[in-house]
Amino acid sequence: MSGKVLLVDDSQQARQTIKEALRDIFPVFIEADDGLTAIKAFVEEKPGFIITDIEMPSINGYRFISTIRNMDDGRDVPIIMLSGSKDSLKKKLTGFNLGASDFLIKPFENEELVARVKSLLRMRHLMDELKEKNVLLEKLAITDELTGLYNRRHFFATVREQLALGLRHNFKIGCMLMDIDHFKTINDTWGHIAGDDVLRKIGGILASCKREGELLARFGGEEFIMCLFNTDSENALLAAERFRNLIKSYDFTSVYYPSISVTISIGLAVYPQGATVSIDDLIKAADKALYRSKIEGRDRVSLYEWSPGPGLETQHPPLIEK
Ligand code: GH3
Ligand code: MG
Ligand code: MG
Ligand code: MG
Repeated sequence: MSGKVLLVDDSQQARQTIKEALRDIFPVFIEADDGLTAIKAFVEEKPGFIITDIEMPSINGYRFISTIRNMDDGRDVPIIMLSGSKDSLKKKLTGFNLGASDFLIKPFENEELVARVKSLLRMRHLMDELKEKNVLLEKLAITDELTGLYNRRHFFATVREQLALGLRHNFKIGCMLMDIDHFKTINDTWGHIAGDDVLRKIGGILASCKREGELLARFGGEEFIMCLFNTDSENALLAAERFRNLIKSYDFTSVYYPSISVTISIGLAVYPQGATVSIDDLIKAADKALYRSKIEGRDRVSLYEWSPGPGLETQHPPLIEK
């Protein structure tokens, strides 16, 4: 939160008094003598705290507060309103309704102002901490712990949206399932920690070499999944071959596992034209293509071929069993 406080009062004397009272709390004071100047100062300086008078020329304190509360940056900033004692209850209620955080009646003791400012700052600090924790939790909920890639749940949530959007715009969507070859042997030979290390490295290679907009996730165990958008079979095959070669030629060796070679098999399915299939069917198709890559010798890419048939226009194309 910014250490700047915005003081809004048409009386220079009043601003001076507040400044003296809060000198030990805020390093920077920004001053405005009416609501309009204060709005401009808020936008330009982004203060983390506001103290405002109500009665002022042009835009008064009420309009100033409601303007600030309607801005994205102004929703949470603590605002203390100041007012003379006349009609104080009515003013207080109006101020709170518009979003003031606290209210003080002039004249007030400096100690009371200081105590209220400190209490609001404490609350703001707690709120900021909570927000940070929420952001972290949201990130954790969509992230695979080992590789730092998106997890399966996030993959499905995102791809369903993308699929709907893609179909509306007649995009071709490709789904690529990647599975590490003989990964069990890597674990058995070099240990589980080495296996984890290989998984992390592969996640890193795929993440750094994928194109922007392509959706990559750890699908489970030693499998990764990627969705390519607006792509045809030819380009999807090229991309898959690129990934396969990247992994094959990457030097995975380390002092902990000095002689290791890693390859992946890939199954590819590109959304069939003129038919409607679900994401589950698309993944099932990619999985069948992956199976073919495995039985045909591993370290290769296979493309799923949808079987043509009557009613392809409207029906799910049947999956060819290989
Ligand atoms: P294939 O070429 O047929 O895919 O053989 P594979 O050995 O890779 O396949 P298999 O399904 O037999 O074994 C997968 C192994 O992946 C078994 C499992 O212990 C290991 N594995 C799954 N998740 C993790 C993980 O998070 N860390 C480590 N180190 N190993 C994992
Ligand atoms: Mg005034
Ligand atoms: Mg597997
Ligand atoms: Mg495997």
